Amino acid sequence: MKHAVDAKTLVVLGTGGTIAGQADAQTDHVGYSAAQIGVDQLVESVPPLADALDGCRLVTEQVAQIDSKDMSWLVWQQLAQRCAFWLTDPAVQSLVITHGTDTLEETAWFLQSVLQPAKPVVLTCAMRPATALVPDGPQNLLDAVTVALDQRASGVLAVCAGVVHDALRVQKIQSYRLDAFDSGPDGPCGHVEQGRVRWAGKSDSAGHGHVTAGLQAVANAAEPPWVEIVINHQGADGRQVDALVRAGVKGLVAAGTGNGSLHADLEAALLRAQESGVRVVRASRCCQGRVLPTPGDTLPDSNGLSPVKARISLMLALLASDGPADAG
Ligand code: ASP
Repeated sequence: MKHAVDAKTLVVLGTGGTIAGQADAQTDHVGYSAAQIGVDQLVESVPPLADALDGCRLVTEQVAQIDSKDMSWLVWQQLAQRCAFWLTDPAVQSLVITHGTDTLEETAWFLQSVLQPAKPVVLTCAMRPATALVPDGPQNLLDAVTVALDQRASGVLAVCAGVVHDALRVQKIQSYRLDAFDSGPDGPCGHVEQGRVRWAGKSDSAGHGHVTAGLQAVANAAEPPWVEIVINHQGADGRQVDALVRAGVKGLVAAGTGNGSLHADLEAALLRAQESGVRVVRASRCCQGRVLPTPGDTLPDSNGLSPVKARISLMLALLASDGPADAG
């Protein structure tokens, strides 16, 4: 589909996921193949989109067709570039991205960090394949378009099961239920009800200062800096960290227990890693709350980011860094 320069345009970028998935049986919600249906067909399967668009022109583009568990740096590079291309077009009002649920929060944080868009970029998804007796994808797509065209929307957002989340807070917390995402104790940005957005609070993503790489640095990097997550648990020791350092890891995120606490042996290995030049950041494996710094901390905390988002910020900080970088 082509867009006219004098029209307001909404662009839907397809990347795959369960929303584009197909199963052999209508009752099968787990044994399906993700990423089978093209974005054009997804859009066509939601006739009420015509009303929601309210005269806005719709453009679709298939950027990738993958299960988001396999999300790669290459797809992220392409997606960021296509988003930037459309966002700089004055005729484009907003973007919607169809995406798998598994790594949606990571893509949301990556795009927010790299693009920091003023226009809305709304990710949406589904927990059931398109072939389900009652699929959730069509309603999610319709809701995402409603949010994307709302005058108060901005930055990278996620819409699932009628709830609007910001890129900073969104987290998949459910492996099966349709309402699979949560924004933690600060709550969601809003809800979509009967084709209208009821805003509940502001997105925190834009104000979350951290060192990040721009689109050019991302585009130029054949591979991102190697950053791994190690988790604290009963009996955690430093062998994994030592092995990663020997193998050339550039950054480590420690998913600590509680307030980022670490087994003494794991902490000792992380300090050795830090002394050898590896960047280390401490997050919490708790799915809610954040690591609060205490005087004398020897490992910096993730400034409220979950381990997977702290990993992205650390990758981007390393990519950008020619001086000290703050992953949080
Ligand atoms: N594995 C799928 C994906 O992330 C799950 C989903 O979309 O719900 O693409």
